[in-house]
Amino acid sequence: MQKKKRVLVKFSGEALAGENGFGIENSVLKYIASQIKELLINDVEVGIVIGGGNIIRGVTAAKDGLIKRTSGDYMGMLATVINAIAMQEALESAGLDVRVQSAIQMEAFCETYIMRRAQRHLEKGRVVIFAAGTGNPYFTTDTTAVLRAVEIEAEVIIKATKVDGVYDKDPHKFEDAQFLHTISYERALHDNIKVMDDTAIALAKDNALPIIVCNMFCEGNLLKIIQGDMSICSVVKN
Ligand code: UDP
Repeated sequence: MQKKKRVLVKFSGEALAGENGFGIENSVLKYIASQIKELLINDVEVGIVIGGGNIIRGVTAAKDGLIKRTSGDYMGMLATVINAIAMQEALESAGLDVRVQSAIQMEAFCETYIMRRAQRHLEKGRVVIFAAGTGNPYFTTDTTAVLRAVEIEAEVIIKATKVDGVYDKDPHKFEDAQFLHTISYERALHDNIKVMDDTAIALAKDNALPIIVCNMFCEGNLLKIIQGDMSICSVVKN
């Protein structure tokens, strides 16, 4: 039997906030669930990492020194769990089987991350949402996404954003900004093209994991990319 494609989809917490910029917008949850469902219908195994920036980020919580950075980061990790639980509901409403696995034990409402267990869920066609980041302060959910993608042996990581991909400079500020269809890990790191933070890019580079950046809010994009349409995204690879 042909091996199924396995991908890790990462999106920021802010994506869930919709126009509000804060909290969780149910219409966005529903939309994302519909896009993920298309992948499952087409025999793709899907892991998901969601950020927490729509609720709190460690750096922001710690900005005036009252809250320690480490505590702020734990608050950020908890925010990702809130988003994961919400996404689980939306995916289940769309008829999918879902498991949330948290890097930090929260046994009342989700599983704790166990790599082999996650693999089994994926093989059985369940969506696995990886919550609570890496479980460590000073990391981001981008790094979490790359780490989990490598662990579950995903073929690619898709960073699903509100923009079409990566430009050499800010297209809102520079008319001559060029869209970059492919970028090397080195260029992403050295030209400070903020596809992901440096830790995440370095980990992807070490493991030759391609990072695809695309606009998740164009309907059907995720599936088109998985089916090979690379004209609608940027890819960071060797
Ligand atoms: N975080 C952390 N360790 C991790 C992942 C996340 O401490 O392994 C915290 C960190 O404070 C971060 C917050 O969780 O700011 C939310 O994650 P992130 O900023 O990556 O969310 P996004 O910007 O993608 O919404």
